[in-house]
Amino acid sequence: MNSKRRVRFPVITVIVVVAFILITAHTGGASTQTDAKAAPTVTTYSKSQSVCLDPGHGGSDPGALSNDGTINERDINLKVALQVQTSLQNSGYRVFMTRTTNDPTMNNNDRWGYCNSRHATIMVSIHHNDFSDDSVDYATALFYKDSDQALATSILNATSSQLGIPNDGIAQFEDSVLSKSTMPSTVSEGFFITNSSEFSQLSSPNPSRLTIEAKAIVSGIETYFADPKAAQSAVNSNPQVLERDD
Ligand SMILES: [Zn+2]
Repeated sequence: MNSKRRVRFPVITVIVVVAFILITAHTGGASTQTDAKAAPTVTTYSKSQSVCLDPGHGGSDPGALSNDGTINERDINLKVALQVQTSLQNSGYRVFMTRTTNDPTMNNNDRWGYCNSRHATIMVSIHHNDFSDDSVDYATALFYKDSDQALATSILNATSSQLGIPNDGIAQFEDSVLSKSTMPSTVSEGFFITNSSEFSQLSSPNPSRLTIEAKAIVSGIETYFADPKAAQSAVNSNPQVLERDD
Protein backbone atom coordinates (compact mmCIF):
# COMPACT_ATOMS: atom_id res chain seq x y z
CA MET A 1 0.00 0.00 0.00
CA ASN A 2 2.70 2.35 0.93
CA SER A 3 4.74 1.62 -2.14
CA LYS A 4 1.67 1.95 -4.41
CA ARG A 5 0.93 5.29 -2.85
CA ARG A 6 4.46 6.38 -3.49
CA VAL A 7 4.06 5.39 -7.14
CA ARG A 8 0.58 6.90 -7.66
CA PHE A 9 1.34 10.19 -5.94
CA PRO A 10 3.89 11.36 -8.53
CA VAL A 11 1.50 10.41 -11.37
CA ILE A 12 -1.26 12.55 -9.94
CA THR A 13 1.23 15.30 -9.34
CA VAL A 14 2.39 15.13 -12.94
CA ILE A 15 -1.21 15.29 -14.19
CA VAL A 16 -1.96 18.26 -11.98
CA VAL A 17 1.23 20.02 -12.97
CA VAL A 18 0.62 19.43 -16.69
CA ALA A 19 -2.97 20.63 -16.34
CA PHE A 20 -1.74 23.69 -14.46
CA ILE A 21 0.84 24.48 -17.13
CA LEU A 22 -1.74 24.15 -19.90
CA ILE A 23 -4.26 26.34 -18.10
CA THR A 24 -1.62 28.90 -17.21
CA ALA A 25 -0.30 28.97 -20.78
CA HIS A 26 -3.79 29.47 -22.17
CA THR A 27 -4.75 32.12 -19.67
CA GLY A 28 -1.42 33.83 -20.12
CA GLY A 29 -1.93 33.96 -23.86
CA ALA A 30 -5.38 35.44 -23.48
CA SER A 31 -4.07 37.93 -20.96
CA THR A 32 -1.35 39.06 -23.34
CA GLN A 33 -3.92 39.70 -26.05
CA THR A 34 -6.06 41.69 -23.63
CA ASP A 35 -3.06 43.73 -22.57
CA ALA A 36 -2.22 44.45 -26.19
CA LYS A 37 -5.72 45.77 -26.80
CA ALA A 38 -5.63 47.91 -23.66
CA ALA A 39 -2.24 49.40 -24.44
CA PRO A 40 -2.39 53.01 -25.71
CA THR A 41 -2.31 53.07 -29.47
CA VAL A 42 0.19 55.29 -31.24
CA THR A 43 -1.99 57.73 -33.15
CA THR A 44 -0.79 58.68 -36.58
CA TYR A 45 -1.99 61.75 -38.40
CA SER A 46 -2.52 61.71 -42.13
CA LYS A 47 -1.75 65.44 -42.33
CA SER A 48 1.63 66.91 -41.43
CA GLN A 49 0.22 70.21 -40.13
CA SER A 50 -1.11 70.78 -36.62
CA VAL A 51 -3.52 73.40 -35.31
CA CYS A 52 -3.62 75.03 -31.88
CA LEU A 53 -7.18 76.17 -31.20
CA ASP A 54 -7.79 78.80 -28.55
CA PRO A 55 -11.42 79.36 -27.49
CA GLY A 56 -11.29 82.91 -26.12
CA HIS A 57 -12.15 83.80 -22.49
CA GLY A 58 -13.27 81.11 -20.00
CA GLY A 59 -13.60 80.60 -16.27
CA SER A 60 -14.43 83.84 -14.49
CA ASP A 61 -14.13 85.78 -17.77
CA PRO A 62 -17.33 85.44 -19.84
CA GLY A 63 -16.15 87.77 -22.62
CA ALA A 64 -18.80 89.66 -24.55
CA LEU A 65 -22.45 89.28 -23.55
CA SER A 66 -25.66 89.39 -25.55
CA ASN A 67 -27.75 92.45 -24.79
CA ASP A 68 -29.94 90.55 -22.31
CA GLY A 69 -26.90 88.88 -20.74
CA THR A 70 -28.11 85.32 -21.36
CA ILE A 71 -25.52 84.34 -23.98
CA ASN A 72 -21.83 84.87 -23.43
CA GLU A 73 -18.79 84.64 -25.62
CA ARG A 74 -17.01 82.13 -23.36
CA ASP A 75 -19.68 79.52 -24.16
CA ILE A 76 -20.09 80.03 -27.87
CA ASN A 77 -16.35 80.36 -28.48
CA LEU A 78 -15.93 76.91 -26.92
CA LYS A 79 -18.85 75.37 -28.84
CA VAL A 80 -17.39 76.55 -32.13
CA ALA A 81 -13.86 75.46 -31.17
CA LEU A 82 -14.95 71.94 -30.18
CA GLN A 83 -16.66 71.49 -33.55
CA VAL A 84 -13.59 72.78 -35.36
CA GLN A 85 -11.44 70.38 -33.32
CA THR A 86 -13.58 67.35 -34.22
CA SER A 87 -13.69 68.23 -37.89
CA LEU A 88 -9.94 68.82 -38.17
CA GLN A 89 -9.15 65.61 -36.30
CA ASN A 90 -11.49 63.66 -38.58
CA SER A 91 -9.53 65.08 -41.52
CA GLY A 92 -6.25 63.83 -40.04
CA TYR A 93 -4.84 66.98 -38.44
CA ARG A 94 -3.34 67.01 -34.98
CA VAL A 95 -5.20 69.55 -32.84
CA PHE A 96 -4.14 71.16 -29.57
CA MET A 97 -6.73 72.95 -27.40
CA THR A 98 -5.91 75.72 -24.92
CA ARG A 99 -9.14 74.75 -23.13
CA THR A 100 -11.85 72.11 -23.65
CA THR A 101 -14.26 73.21 -20.90
CA ASN A 102 -15.57 76.52 -19.60
CA ASP A 103 -13.81 76.06 -16.25
CA PRO A 104 -10.29 77.44 -16.64
CA THR A 105 -9.58 81.13 -16.27
CA MET A 106 -6.62 81.78 -18.55
CA ASN A 107 -4.40 84.72 -19.32
CA ASN A 108 -2.80 85.35 -22.70
CA ASN A 109 0.53 83.88 -21.56
CA ASP A 110 -1.26 80.58 -20.90
CA ARG A 111 -2.61 80.65 -24.44
CA TRP A 112 0.39 81.55 -26.59
CA GLY A 113 2.72 79.70 -24.21
CA TYR A 114 0.77 76.47 -24.65
CA CYS A 115 0.57 76.74 -28.45
CA ASN A 116 4.29 77.56 -28.69
CA SER A 117 5.16 74.60 -26.46
CA ARG A 118 3.22 72.26 -28.77
CA HIS A 119 5.06 73.64 -31.83
CA ALA A 120 1.74 73.91 -33.66
CA THR A 121 1.85 74.87 -37.33
CA ILE A 122 -0.78 77.60 -36.82
CA MET A 123 -2.81 79.09 -33.97
CA VAL A 124 -6.45 80.10 -34.32
CA SER A 125 -8.09 82.00 -31.47
CA ILE A 126 -11.90 82.00 -31.65
CA HIS A 127 -13.85 85.05 -30.46
CA HIS A 128 -17.04 86.98 -31.20
CA ASN A 129 -17.55 90.70 -31.38
CA ASP A 130 -19.91 93.02 -29.50
CA PHE A 131 -21.19 96.56 -29.97
CA SER A 132 -23.80 98.84 -28.43
CA ASP A 133 -25.82 99.03 -31.69
CA ASP A 134 -27.70 95.74 -32.19
CA SER A 135 -27.93 96.26 -35.96
CA VAL A 136 -24.14 95.97 -36.43
CA ASP A 137 -22.83 92.64 -37.71
CA TYR A 138 -19.78 91.68 -39.74
CA ALA A 139 -16.89 89.24 -39.70
CA THR A 140 -13.29 90.24 -39.13
CA ALA A 141 -10.01 88.57 -38.24
CA LEU A 142 -7.09 90.07 -36.35
CA PHE A 143 -3.39 89.71 -37.03
CA TYR A 144 -0.18 91.16 -35.70
CA LYS A 145 2.79 89.61 -37.50
CA ASP A 146 3.21 89.75 -41.28
CA SER A 147 3.13 85.95 -41.21
CA ASP A 148 -0.37 86.07 -39.68
CA GLN A 149 -2.02 87.93 -42.53
CA ALA A 150 -2.58 85.12 -45.01
CA LEU A 151 -4.13 82.88 -42.36
CA ALA A 152 -6.34 85.70 -41.07
CA THR A 153 -7.48 86.51 -44.61
CA SER A 154 -8.25 82.90 -45.50
CA ILE A 155 -10.36 82.35 -42.38
CA LEU A 156 -12.11 85.71 -42.68
CA ASN A 157 -13.07 85.14 -46.31
CA ALA A 158 -14.61 81.80 -45.33
CA THR A 159 -16.49 83.02 -42.24
CA SER A 160 -17.85 86.08 -44.00
CA SER A 161 -19.11 84.20 -47.04
CA GLN A 162 -20.46 81.14 -45.21
CA LEU A 163 -22.15 83.15 -42.44
CA GLY A 164 -23.51 85.54 -45.07
CA ILE A 165 -22.38 88.72 -43.32
CA PRO A 166 -20.14 91.60 -44.47
CA ASN A 167 -16.39 91.11 -44.67
CA ASP A 168 -14.80 93.96 -42.70
CA GLY A 169 -11.26 93.00 -43.72
CA ILE A 170 -8.42 91.91 -41.49
CA ALA A 171 -7.18 94.28 -38.82
CA GLN A 172 -3.82 94.61 -37.13
CA PHE A 173 -4.11 94.38 -33.37
CA GLU A 174 -1.35 94.27 -30.79
CA ASP A 175 -2.24 91.38 -28.57
CA SER A 176 0.26 88.98 -27.04
CA VAL A 177 -1.66 85.95 -28.33
CA LEU A 178 -0.69 87.21 -31.78
CA SER A 179 2.63 88.92 -31.08
CA LYS A 180 4.17 86.23 -28.85
CA SER A 181 3.02 83.18 -30.76
CA THR A 182 5.81 81.71 -32.85
CA MET A 183 3.58 80.47 -35.67
CA PRO A 184 1.12 82.18 -38.06
CA SER A 185 -1.83 83.11 -35.84
CA THR A 186 -5.14 84.90 -36.01
CA VAL A 187 -8.05 85.91 -33.82
CA SER A 188 -11.28 85.12 -35.69
CA GLU A 189 -14.18 87.41 -34.72
CA GLY A 190 -16.97 85.46 -36.39
CA PHE A 191 -19.99 87.69 -35.83
CA PHE A 192 -21.50 90.12 -33.32
CA ILE A 193 -23.04 88.43 -30.30
CA THR A 194 -24.96 91.68 -29.72
CA ASN A 195 -26.63 91.67 -33.15
CA SER A 196 -30.39 91.07 -32.90
CA SER A 197 -30.51 88.61 -35.80
CA GLU A 198 -27.54 86.62 -34.52
CA PHE A 199 -29.07 86.54 -31.03
CA SER A 200 -32.32 85.07 -32.32
CA GLN A 201 -30.34 82.33 -34.09
CA LEU A 202 -28.40 81.45 -30.94
CA SER A 203 -31.37 80.63 -28.73
CA SER A 204 -31.34 76.83 -29.28
CA PRO A 205 -28.92 74.63 -27.26
CA ASN A 206 -26.78 73.73 -30.29
CA PRO A 207 -27.38 76.48 -32.82
CA SER A 208 -26.76 75.65 -36.47
CA ARG A 209 -25.24 79.11 -36.73
CA LEU A 210 -22.23 77.90 -34.75
CA THR A 211 -21.91 74.78 -36.92
CA ILE A 212 -21.83 76.97 -40.02
CA GLU A 213 -19.13 79.10 -38.42
CA ALA A 214 -17.08 76.06 -37.39
CA LYS A 215 -17.23 74.63 -40.91
CA ALA A 216 -16.16 78.01 -42.29
CA ILE A 217 -13.14 78.17 -39.97
CA VAL A 218 -12.15 74.65 -41.01
CA SER A 219 -12.44 75.51 -44.69
CA GLY A 220 -10.41 78.68 -44.12
CA ILE A 221 -7.67 76.64 -42.41
CA GLU A 222 -7.65 74.03 -45.16
CA THR A 223 -7.53 76.69 -47.87
CA TYR A 224 -4.55 78.26 -46.09
CA PHE A 225 -2.76 74.93 -45.70
CA ALA A 226 -3.39 74.02 -49.34
CA ASP A 227 -1.47 77.07 -50.54
CA PRO A 228 -0.31 79.66 -47.96
CA LYS A 229 1.23 81.79 -50.71
CA ALA A 230 -2.06 82.01 -52.60
CA ALA A 231 -3.77 83.13 -49.40
CA GLN A 232 -1.01 85.71 -48.95
CA SER A 233 -1.74 87.19 -52.37
CA ALA A 234 -5.34 87.88 -51.30
CA VAL A 235 -4.26 89.99 -48.32
CA ASN A 236 -5.52 93.56 -48.23
CA SER A 237 -2.46 95.79 -48.57
CA ASN A 238 -3.95 98.43 -46.24
CA PRO A 239 -5.50 96.60 -43.29
CA GLN A 240 -7.01 98.69 -40.52
CA VAL A 241 -5.16 99.02 -37.25
CA LEU A 242 -7.21 98.49 -34.13
CA GLU A 243 -6.51 100.03 -30.75
CA ARG A 244 -8.69 98.35 -28.20
CA ASP A 245 -8.50 96.14 -25.16
CA ASP A 246 -10.65 93.13 -26.14
ZN1 LIG B 1 -13.42 87.91 -27.07
